[in-house]
Amino acid sequence: MGAAKTSFMVNKTPPRAHNRDINLKIDDTRIRQVKTQKYLGIMLDSRLLFESHATYINRKARTILMALRTKAVRHWHIDNVKSLLTIYKGAILPILSYASRVWIHRMSYVKINRQFLSTQGVFCRILTRAYQSVSTDAALVLAGLAPIDLELERINCHRELKQGRNAMFQGEVITGNTFLHPAHLDEYLRLKMEDIWQERWDQSEKGRTTYEFIPTVTAACPLLDRPLSTQKTQVVTGHGNFGAHLLRIGKDDTGHCPTCDVLDNPQHRILVCPLFAETRIRIRQTLRTWPPDLKQILTITDNSVFEQLTVTHPD
Ligand SMILES: [Zn+2]
Repeated sequence: MGAAKTSFMVNKTPPRAHNRDINLKIDDTRIRQVKTQKYLGIMLDSRLLFESHATYINRKARTILMALRTKAVRHWHIDNVKSLLTIYKGAILPILSYASRVWIHRMSYVKINRQFLSTQGVFCRILTRAYQSVSTDAALVLAGLAPIDLELERINCHRELKQGRNAMFQGEVITGNTFLHPAHLDEYLRLKMEDIWQERWDQSEKGRTTYEFIPTVTAACPLLDRPLSTQKTQVVTGHGNFGAHLLRIGKDDTGHCPTCDVLDNPQHRILVCPLFAETRIRIRQTLRTWPPDLKQILTITDNSVFEQLTVTHPD
């Protein structure tokens, strides 16, 4: 045992322990005391709060995501959605869910939960080609990926049940013999996940423009069937070439439409603005509803509609 390579950590829950006086020695060399220690890939902290573990694995996942972003931005192709999802499921989720059995109960703590969600937000913005200013709440809905805390709990639940143990899902005890078939469990967890996610989306203060276009969440990535162009994403997030967005990022003083003198956002352009009358006719012809149903806008496949909606002054 080498003294230089050895360290110790005191594992104790509050009330506060007085560890300062602990003095361990090997051959007269004092052993250093540490606050965190990596053990079997888990970053353990002395109070087992798993905050350092959350930071550690999220940093690891983000390194991969940053490299992905650079690549995805440079060579965007429709197959990207497919390969990005494969990388997410095959590389990112396993990193984030590693040994989750030990720490999954800590997911309900805001400080930990927020770290995971913000990592997932990075991925969803890459996948949907959204501006980095788009909120994680909106990016998740657009990408059709349920919030990661629910997803990790679901993964953990499956794993536990497979091992013949009971599991918790959002405070509910799930036992193996409740479901006749594994597919029933899948379906049950998916529905429950969507239900909780929907409630969060309804109550969120973020991404309210996206909420008008996509009020209902679906935990099934729609991008494979219905790819998003950068312009389409700009329209349904409101983050793009719109007065409201320019105002938000400090590039415009009022955020108003130059013609109508009201806030310039995608809804204004689609529903009201005379500058976009021609585009409105095209939307009307495609959707066959009047006024245009914002919830149907995503179904429009002709990208030139979105190109028109994202220019400042149409001809
Ligand atoms: Zn206008």
